[in-house]
Amino acid sequence: MHRVASFQSGALAHLTAAHLREHGVMAGVIDATMSAVTSVMGGSFSQGAYELVIATKRDEERARELLGELKENPPTIDPDWEDDVAPDLSLLDKKHIPNCPGCKWPVSIARPLGPCQRCGTPYDVLEMVFEMHGPEALAPCYETEAPMANLSDEQVCDIAIDCTSCEYPLDGLGVRGNCPECGAYFDRRELFNGLLGH
Ligand SMILES: [Zn+2]
Ligand SMILES: [Zn+2]
Repeated sequence: MHRVASFQSGALAHLTAAHLREHGVMAGVIDATMSAVTSVMGGSFSQGAYELVIATKRDEERARELLGELKENPPTIDPDWEDDVAPDLSLLDKKHIPNCPGCKWPVSIARPLGPCQRCGTPYDVLEMVFEMHGPEALAPCYETEAPMANLSDEQVCDIAIDCTSCEYPLDGLGVRGNCPECGAYFDRRELFNGLLGH
């Protein structure tokens, strides 16, 4: 895995990785966010970076080209993007689960539109998370499908990747097997899913 860029916004990092994948570069996002809790503010805030990584160094030049293109013409985050697909709130980071505005107990994410089972206050979990933590807090909820799942073995084999132990290029060696150079076992789907955080 090779790091090619880092982002403050997780949503932007995921959009960029998707753009690279659309253009044939296997890319994923590593959430390197450090979170800190401050008792003064009575809440939590997060700071840190989302790292964009690619599967093989051989794609680095192409990746930088695509990043350059994106810089000229940056992707925009549609303010209504959360309406497009229903997010899977069970994937929400635990630290982003909001408290009921009425009784201050953590809300039940199984009831995203309330009302609170304890005090009956209505709420909208999505709206609260969005307002408190921004769209990037919701990004994991939209990344439900492993992007490799729908690809045929042939398509998976067409994506360039190197041995994780010795960096030998595994071109033309099938979905899984052993590295001819160092003998390490590889499974392309697992490698890719690991890269993408699944
Ligand atoms: Zn309540
Ligand atoms: Zn190897």
